[in-house]
Amino acid sequence: MTRDLAAYAKEHGIKYFMISFTDLFGGQRAKLVPTQAIADMQTEGAGFAGFATWLDLTPAHPDMLAVPDPASVIQIPWKPEIAWVAADCVMEGADVAQAPRNVLRRQIARAAKEGLHVKTGVEAEFFLLTPDGMQISDPHDTAEKPCYDQQAIMRRYDVVREICDYMLDLGWGPYQNDHEDANGQFEMNWEFADALVTADRHSFFKFMVKSVAEAHGFRATFMPKPIQGLTGNGCHAHISVWDDAGKNAFATEKGTGPTGELGLSEQGAHFLGGIMKHASALAAITNPTVNSYKRINAPRTTSGATWAPNSVTWTGNNRTHMVRVPGPGRFELRLPDGAANPYLLQAVIIAAGLSGIQSKADPGKRYDIDMYAEGHKVEDAPKLPLNLLDALRAYESDAELMEMMGQEFSQAFLKLKRKEWDSFVSHFSRWEREHTLDI
Ligand SMILES: [Mg+2]
Repeated sequence: MTRDLAAYAKEHGIKYFMISFTDLFGGQRAKLVPTQAIADMQTEGAGFAGFATWLDLTPAHPDMLAVPDPASVIQIPWKPEIAWVAADCVMEGADVAQAPRNVLRRQIARAAKEGLHVKTGVEAEFFLLTPDGMQISDPHDTAEKPCYDQQAIMRRYDVVREICDYMLDLGWGPYQNDHEDANGQFEMNWEFADALVTADRHSFFKFMVKSVAEAHGFRATFMPKPIQGLTGNGCHAHISVWDDAGKNAFATEKGTGPTGELGLSEQGAHFLGGIMKHASALAAITNPTVNSYKRINAPRTTSGATWAPNSVTWTGNNRTHMVRVPGPGRFELRLPDGAANPYLLQAVIIAAGLSGIQSKADPGKRYDIDMYAEGHKVEDAPKLPLNLLDALRAYESDAELMEMMGQEFSQAFLKLKRKEWDSFVSHFSRWEREHTLDI
C-alpha cells in the first residue's frame, strides 16, 4: 500500500518533510519541504543539483530528483513537526544507477528473483566526544577495560535513554544498550529487519544519535578509529536469508561438515562462500575511508583486543574472526566499520552472497582458533587490505563483484574514492616531518 504523505501529514501534525538521500560517501542530503507542497513532491520528487553531492555527476547534468519512498517515513521524535523520508534518486525518468539506495534496491530485486529475502541487523557503535571532537566527553571514563562499565553508562544515561526511548516509540524493537570496549564508546541494538528497512533505519540512527548528542552538548562520531590506541567503531552485520514462504533458508538441522555442524544450510554456506571469496574487494565498501584501516590491522588496544579482523577467516561462535556463525541460520560479518554507507553495506553483502550462491562458492576451512593469539599460525588465509588504496585495487580487480554491484556504480565509486586517496597522500603530515627532517 502506498502511503499518501499529505494524509500522513494531516494525521501526525507534520509541518515539514525532510526528503533525504545518501550519496556515495555516506553523506545524507535533504530538502525541507512544507507540507502544502508534499503531494507534488511525492510524485515528482525534490530537485537537486547532483554535482553538488558525491555522486560523480557534472554541473551539466540535468536536475536530479529525489523521489520519497513513503514506506520509509519517520516522524522525527525530537522534532515531531518534521517527518524524515528516504528518497530514490531519479534523472530524466530513470534511476541514477550509482545512487546508493538504488544500488541496494537492485540487489534486493535480484535476490527476490531467486526467491530469497535478505534480513540484516547492524551494530552501529559510536563515541561520545567533546564538541571539538578531540576528547572523550566523560573525563572519568578512563577504565582499562571499560566494556559494559555500569558507572560510565549511567553518566551518559540521559543521552542513551533518549535515543532508546525514540527507538521504542518508532517500533524498532530496541533490546539492549551498553558501554562498549573503548572509553567513550557505546552500542545500542535494535531488531533485525529486511535489508532496505535496516539500511533506512541505520541512516536515521546515525542522524538521530548525532542530533541527540548535539542537544546534550556532545559530539557523536561513527568514525572507525577516532582515538589512537582504543578499540574502533565497528558496524557488525548479522545476516540471514529467508525464502518466499518466510522460512530461514540459511538454517538447517545440525548436519555434517564445517558449516553443517553449525546449523548453516548448503545455501547459507555458499552465500558465506561468496562473502569469503570477495572479502578483500568488498572491504572497499565495508571499510571505505583512510581511517578504516587503522581499525582493522590495528595493534592491540589498551583493553587487550581490537575486536576487528585482519584476515579472511570464519568460524563458529568466536569473535576473533572476520565471520562468526554464532548459531543456526545466520552469521555475523565483523568487518564493516562505522564509516560504511548504510545502503552500500547491505548491497555489497547481498551482491557477494548471491554470487556465492550462483557459483556454489565454498567458504573454505573453518578455523576454530583464537585469531588474536594464534593468527600468525594461519598461513593460507588472505590478509585483509592494509589501506584504502589496496582495498580499491582489490575491488577494481574483482570483475565479478564490480559487475554484480553495477558498472556505473563501481566506476563512480572508484573514481571518487581514488580522488580521496590522492588527497590523503598529497596531504603533508606532521609524521613525515618528524621522521624525515633530519635524514
Ligand atoms: Mg560491539
